[in-house]
Amino acid sequence: MIEINTQNTAKAIEKARKTKPLVKVIEFRHYQVTNKITGATYTVKFSKINNRKFAECDCKSIKVCYHIGASIGFHIVLAEQTIKA
Ligand SMILES: [Zn+2]
Repeated sequence: MIEINTQNTAKAIEKARKTKPLVKVIEFRHYQVTNKITGATYTVKFSKINNRKFAECDCKSIKVCYHIGASIGFHIVLAEQTIKA
C-alpha cells in the first residue's frame, strides 16, 4: 500500500492520460484497470486511514503506477457522488 498525494500521483495520472487504459469499477474504491494493447489487467484499491489516502495495485510497480493514476479520476467522481448522496 502506498500513501498517495497530489505530488506522487501527478506523473501517474499523466501517464494514464497517454496510455488510456480501460477502467472498470468493481465497487466503491475498487477498480480494475486493463491495458487495451497488452490486455493485462490489474486491480487497484483505495483506502482512507486517519484522513490519509492510500492506494494499492497488484502490478509489480513499487511506486504510484499509472493504473492507480487511471483510477484516481474515476475515484474522485464517485467519492463526490457518495458524499452528496
Ligand atoms: Zn499498477
